[in-house]
Amino acid sequence: MADPLVIIGAGQAASQLVASLAQDGFKGEVCLIGDEPHLPYQRPPLSKKFLAGELALDRLYVKPAAFYEKAGSRLLLGQRAQRIDRAGRTVILADGVRLAYSTLVLATGSRPRELALPGAGLEGAFYLRNIADVDAIRARLAWAKSLVVIGGGYIGLELAAVAAKLGLGVTVLEQAPRLMARGVGPVVSQFYARLHGEEGVVIRAGAVVRGFEGNGAIERVVCDDATYDADIVVIGAGAVPNVELAREAGLTVEDGIVVDARCRADDDAIYAIGDCTSQHHDLVGRRLRLESVHNALEQARIAAAAICGRKPPAVQVPWFWTDQYDVKMQMAGLSAGHDQAVVRGGAEHGRSFAVFYLREGTLIAVDAVNRAPEFMMSKQLIAEHARIDPARLGDEGVAMKDMRN
Ligand SMILES: Cc1cc2nc3c(=O)[nH]c(=O)nc-3n(C[C@H](O)[C@H](O)[C@H](O)COP(=O)(O)OP(=O)(O)OC[C@H]3O[C@@H](n4cnc5c(N)ncnc54)[C@H](O)[C@@H]3O)c2cc1C
Repeated sequence: MADPLVIIGAGQAASQLVASLAQDGFKGEVCLIGDEPHLPYQRPPLSKKFLAGELALDRLYVKPAAFYEKAGSRLLLGQRAQRIDRAGRTVILADGVRLAYSTLVLATGSRPRELALPGAGLEGAFYLRNIADVDAIRARLAWAKSLVVIGGGYIGLELAAVAAKLGLGVTVLEQAPRLMARGVGPVVSQFYARLHGEEGVVIRAGAVVRGFEGNGAIERVVCDDATYDADIVVIGAGAVPNVELAREAGLTVEDGIVVDARCRADDDAIYAIGDCTSQHHDLVGRRLRLESVHNALEQARIAAAAICGRKPPAVQVPWFWTDQYDVKMQMAGLSAGHDQAVVRGGAEHGRSFAVFYLREGTLIAVDAVNRAPEFMMSKQLIAEHARIDPARLGDEGVAMKDMRN
C-alpha cells in the first residue's frame, strides 16, 4: 500500500484540505498531525465570542470527529512533528515515531511574536493564539480590574472590546502612530480610535513599552513617558510563521515557506498552505504572506486540486473581517500601493462607512465598516479590475449595484 499523505498542523487550513481532498476524489490514506489536543478549530472567535463566553467550545471545531473518520483520515493529536527527512520521505515525531509519506503538506500556521521586555515572564502576561491562552486569560479577566493591551492590531482591539464590555478599565498601547496600521488606511484607524474612546477604552498611540513591573505578578506597564496599572497584560504584537521544520529540511523560506501558484514548495512531494506560506499575489505583483481564514481555505482547495491532478479553483480576492463592539468591518483586496482613498458615508460620526482604495483609477481594496453591500459589490469589482469614477464611489446617492460605469 502507498504511504499516506501526511499533513503537519491540524488547524483551519488542514481541516479544509481533508474536506477538499475527499471532494476531489483522493483515494489514499491521510494522516493529520497536530500538536494541540483539539480537533481543528476556528481561531477568529478566540478574540471575539469565545473569549466573551458567548460560544461553546464544541462550536469552535471546524468539523466533528466523525467527519475525519468518514474522510478516511487518521488524527494524531497532541503530537508534534520534530523533523522532516526529505530524502527518506519521512516525518519524525517528537516521541521518535517515524511516519513515511507519499505527499507532505505543511499547515503549521503562525505564532505570536514574542516581546523580549524586562518582566515579560511575570504572572499575568499573556499572548492570544489558542484555546489554552483563552482559558488562562478568561480566568484572570474574571477578577481583574485593569487590562493593558500591548499592540493596537485587530486581535488586541477585539480583546479590548470584550474586556471593556466585561467592565474592566482597558488601555491599549500601540507603538505606531495609529491603530491597525498594517491593515487599514488612516481614516479607518481614526475611526477605531474614536470607537474605542466612546466605549471607554484608553488608546495610546506612539507608546514605547519599556517593560513590566510587579511583585511576582504583573502590576504595572512602564512606558517611556508614563506608567499604567494592570492586573493583566495581553500582548498582541503580530505573528511569525512556523517555518522552522521547513527551513531545517532545506526548503526555501522567506517571510514564509515559499510556494508556487499550486501551493507547492520547492520539492515535488511537499506543499504548504495557510499562515505559514509566502505566495505570489497578482493584486500586488509580489510575494506576500497572508494571515486569514480566507487564505487558509483557499490555499487548501488549491493544494487539494493539485494533489488530485484537478483544475485549480479560481483564485478569489483576499478578504478579512474584524468584530469590535457592534461594528463589523469587512475588508477585501489589498490596499498596498493605492494612490487614492475615497470615503463613502461619514467616518467622523456614527459607525457605518466605507473606504475604497484605488490605484490609477482601478479599485484594488475596500474597508467596509458595517457596510455589507459595499463589501460584497467591491469584492466583485476588485476581481474584475474595474475602473470606477471616484466621485460615484463617494456618492451615497449611487447604489453599489449601479457602480459599474
Ligand atoms: C485570536 C485570533 C483571531 C483571529 N481572527 C481572525 C478573523 O477575524 N478573520 C480572519 O480571517 N482570520 C483571523 N485570524 C487568523 C486565522 O485564524 C488564521 O489565519 C488561520 O487560523 C490560519 O490557519 P492555519 O491552518 O494556517 O493555521 P492554524 O489554524 O494556526 O493551525 C496550525 C496548527 O499547526 C500546529 N503546529 C504547528 N507546528 C506543528 C508541528 N511541528 N507539529 C504539529 N503541529 C504543529 C499549530 O499548533 C496549530 O494548531 C485570527 C487568529 C487569531 C489567533
